[in-house]
Amino acid sequence: MPLEVTLIDYARDPLTKLYGAYRTCYTPKTPGEVWAEIGDGRIAASTIRDFIQERLKTGHASPLEQVVFWFGISGVSRSLSHQFVRHRIGISFEQQSQRYVKYREDRLDFVTPKTWEKTPGMHEEYDRLMKEITRVYQLALEKGIPAEDARFVLPNATPTNFQVMVNFAELLHIADLRLCWRAQWEIRHMVALMRREIMKAIPEIGGYLQPKCGDKRTGYCDEPVKSERSRTRATRTRRASWGHPRSLTGERATGEESGRRPRGRMPSCARHEPSTWPPRSSSPCRSPPPPRR
Ligand SMILES: Cc1cc2nc3c(=O)[nH]c(=O)nc-3n(C[C@H](O)[C@H](O)[C@H](O)COP(=O)(O)OP(=O)(O)OC[C@H]3O[C@@H](n4cnc5c(N)ncnc54)[C@H](O)[C@@H]3O)c2cc1C
Repeated sequence: MPLEVTLIDYARDPLTKLYGAYRTCYTPKTPGEVWAEIGDGRIAASTIRDFIQERLKTGHASPLEQVVFWFGISGVSRSLSHQFVRHRIGISFEQQSQRYVKYREDRLDFVTPKTWEKTPGMHEEYDRLMKEITRVYQLALEKGIPAEDARFVLPNATPTNFQVMVNFAELLHIADLRLCWRAQWEIRHMVALMRREIMKAIPEIGGYLQPKCGDKRTGYCDEPVKSERSRTRATRTRRASWGHPRSLTGERATGEESGRRPRGRMPSCARHEPSTWPPRSSSPCRSPPPPRR
């Protein structure tokens, strides 16, 4: 079962909603007057876009809570869902129940990490165990054990589905954390697909979905680069670090998210060659800007 992300819907006219919210903060006009100007076309679409772009460069984040998205997500593991539901502000989940939904297939369609597939002999072991789990789970249902108890034998690899409602402020925060190469691969993949959906629908704001070190976010990494082990891992995952539309969404990247982006603006994790990892102390990866006075 492949991981799929669909942008089901988003609140109407997100750019004008953002413009209205920001404008209300910075004008003596009433929201009624602001929205009358928007409604009768006195504010051009380009003005709305430019105004939002400027505001997005600042730390004024609360208007972003007024832009809301609905996603359908399927084929993710319970291992991912445990991580995903830890996000608790500005996001609302509905997840497939293991009490009301019984898995009836002969062989449950478990999520299989590539590392198991690639390691000689281990894919077969994985498959064997999943078949055995399927057998015991089905047997439990046949013997009358209720689904809510039969599920106790199901592993983290069990697939699950979500409908999620999330506002843009929280989605930015999720991208900050989960597009970083330090996040687990499956949730990174899912968030990259969520980003791809927003890029298709509203590219004006989709580009801001980056890991926190991205040039449109903080621009530096605030986490210490610790060990030789992280160094090896960083090297290995360097290409797949943030946004990584090609490596994680399996699609060709276009526009600003492609390799055509100026090299100097790459997020720091992606920028360092193996030979310069860990980054030099002058690197934005290690050096947050001095505090404001
Ligand atoms: C790489 C990585 C590794 C992780 N490893 C572990 C782990 O080993 N064990 C583990 O338990 N978890 C782990 N987590 C999960 C992590 O601790 C958070 O629970 C998760 O990322 C949700 O993020 P959040 O707390 O920012 O919640 P969100 O709901 O996304 O919160 C958004 C923001 O709202 C604010 N906020 C939310 N709730 C409160 C509150 N009660 N009081 C004040 N401010 C609040 C905070 O500023 C918060 O950042 C990991 C996460 C990542 C990205």
